Amino acid sequence: MRLVVVGGVAGGMSCAARARRLDESAEIVVLERGEHVSFASCGLPYHVGGEIEEADGLLVQTPESLRASLRLDVRPGHDVRGVDTERRVVTVRTAAGEQELAYDALVLAPGARAVRPPVPGLDSPRVRTLRTVADAVALRTGVDAGARRAVVLGAGFIGLEAAEALAHRGLQVTVVERAGHVLPPLEDEIARPVTEELARLGVDVRAGTAATAVEAGTDHDVVVLSDGSRVPAHLVVLSAGVRPDTEAFEAAGIVCERGAIVVDEHGRTSAPGVWAVGDAVVSTDAVTGVRRPVPLAGPANRAGRLVADDILRPGSARPLPAPLGTAVVRVGALTAATTGANRAALDAAQVPYRTLHLHPNQHVGWFPGAAQIHLVVHVGAQDGRLLGAQAVGTDGVDKRIDVLATALRAGLAVDDLIDLDLAYSPPYGQAKDAVNLVGMVGANVLDGTLRLWYAQDLDAVLDSALVLDVRTAAEVATGMLPGALHVPHTQLRARLDEVRAAVAGRPVRVLCASGVRSAIAHRVLAQAGVDSASLSGGVLTLRAVL
Ligand code: FAD
Repeated sequence: MRLVVVGGVAGGMSCAARARRLDESAEIVVLERGEHVSFASCGLPYHVGGEIEEADGLLVQTPESLRASLRLDVRPGHDVRGVDTERRVVTVRTAAGEQELAYDALVLAPGARAVRPPVPGLDSPRVRTLRTVADAVALRTGVDAGARRAVVLGAGFIGLEAAEALAHRGLQVTVVERAGHVLPPLEDEIARPVTEELARLGVDVRAGTAATAVEAGTDHDVVVLSDGSRVPAHLVVLSAGVRPDTEAFEAAGIVCERGAIVVDEHGRTSAPGVWAVGDAVVSTDAVTGVRRPVPLAGPANRAGRLVADDILRPGSARPLPAPLGTAVVRVGALTAATTGANRAALDAAQVPYRTLHLHPNQHVGWFPGAAQIHLVVHVGAQDGRLLGAQAVGTDGVDKRIDVLATALRAGLAVDDLIDLDLAYSPPYGQAKDAVNLVGMVGANVLDGTLRLWYAQDLDAVLDSALVLDVRTAAEVATGMLPGALHVPHTQLRARLDEVRAAVAGRPVRVLCASGVRSAIAHRVLAQAGVDSASLSGGVLTLRAVL
């Protein structure tokens, strides 16, 4: 049995290694177009930034180490140009010419390539993508050679990692993003602190702007933006998204959807004996059911392993799980992370949902180093099923999003989070952990104990409601909404008549800094028969979305 794997990095190598562990007798050939296999794509920005000093540190394995440990026949510099699915052969181009290689089973893991928008001048040698070790080395060399200014086109996860790395090396960095804010898959509420952190790092963020041209010069290029501004750059990083690298396979008749290979729940393509994994395939979104590629390392690695199981243990392999798109990024002192669906995806799929905003500390407030985590959680409007969660903060973000990702995978509803038995001691959490608190707030919202209003509804609220600000006098001294009545929450019970007099037939919309005190005030008002609601996430969220 000869297993041929196309693509020798995340999904492909994971498949090849698992295949060997299952079958000592199989012939396993890995064909890789590039110069390296098994390299840490995710580590490339950290070589540019200098945290991984040597490029060799990104090479997790080499063809030699893979031959020694797993008896894999790994062939870099082998570009698969075609597949004949009837004859079961692939056509491979190497420096020595073209050759055919027969297979019994074929696994396609070609990944994705950078999208190149139709911007004149992107062929300038100063413009690089960040996909390969050679890209990272070239950027690093440019920095070492004295580059002072860089422009990053695209503020997705990779773009921001590149921007952070270049800023860390002392470059003056401009990030250009066509969408309205950085990290477009994340909500405004999460992106705002990231934008502020980028400013703190000295990175100039131009959101809502596109590059229209790159003009080559002798000392530097100039990136021309849609607002007419011109930004000089010794280096330009192109990170405007990726698309599946599948032309050769689509041309061979393997069924694709918008360029991504269509696979079943075991990674089988439309061609018998051909499987596909990773950034190149269509996945079905676990929350919305939307079909799209999910270009992340975890799903690719795990799918590679499961596909090897399906090839070598047919009938007993676990199916590939629908991805949740769980992802995390470091930007300066902040971590931002996401799992499941965002607002835009839920709106597009017409899923009814409620949104919760919380700003709990990552550990008890009285232990040194307490810091807020800003959480946005979407739950099913009727059943409270968890649909998506995002968080940003300086500490504890990855842990909470991973717990929430686990809860999403398990199909939990928000009130199930109350029961999660999470580890606690003062340096790590709270006896009611941030995730438990999401459960408690969610349960209150679902059963009507807590009624929320949202920052997005501010204009309507200012028109038609009495805004009751229950923060302290010191807090409101920094600014209050126009027409708001100020009654600190500790005085509310004694001053209820004053509130009633100010209401004048309007509903009361309460706010505080984070939504905790306004929820208490809401309970006081609701039990006194007043039509009230508490601002979800308080002024912290209001400021992030205005
Ligand atoms: P890849 O790992 O990209 O491997 C595909 C390989 O196939 C490539 O080496 C390519 O040369 C080869 N190939 C393509 N076509 C052919 C052909 N015709 N013949 C032979 N070989 C071919 N994901 C995360 O989850 N977290 C992160 O922090 C993260 N950071 C990233 C940072 C960077 C800079 C980059 C570029 C990606 C990052 N990713 C991250 C994404 C992650 O690396 C990918 O999702 C993952 O590598 C996809 O695995 P894959 O096997 O599908 O493709």
